[in-house]
Amino acid sequence: MDNCIFCKIAAGKIPSNTVYEDEDFRVILDLNQGMKGHMLILPKEHYENFYELPDELAAKAMILAKKLSLAARKAFEKAGTPLDGLNILQNNGEAAGQSVMHYHLHVLPRIKGDDPLFPLWSEAAMESGDMKALAESLKGALES
Ligand code: AMP
Ligand code: ZN
Repeated sequence: MDNCIFCKIAAGKIPSNTVYEDEDFRVILDLNQGMKGHMLILPKEHYENFYELPDELAAKAMILAKKLSLAARKAFEKAGTPLDGLNILQNNGEAAGQSVMHYHLHVLPRIKGDDPLFPLWSEAAMESGDMKALAESLKGALES
């Protein structure tokens, strides 16, 4: 994709703070470091979102996220600021907060109180019959 910024970063055509690179991925520091150590896993090939991503790359991306999470935990511990937690986050579509339309997985090291916006959802119960129907509809879609 000629006009995709993450294609260019992943290919090394635009400089980035690269943390890791292999034949499939480049991992960079996100421009926004409100959560210190915020990393992005970028596939080198262009896929717009999770729906498009081949299963093999989806699996590899998650294994890489685990590796990076363990490394972040070690690095923060070594720096004398042990992590309190870590989020793995991935947005698909504008309504879900996706702003760059090239699949990427966020790895977010967390320190207590670092971002008042979390958690991402509020408490909102649903009537139990509606819950059952919703579960059935999702089950049906999986089986079809
Ligand atoms: P999302 O909202 O899930 O699409 O995430 C896009 C992320 O990309 C945001 O967290 C941005 O801060 C980050 N971002 C955008 N442009 C760049 C860039 N040139 N280098 C590093 N991170 C970027
Ligand atoms: Zn791209």
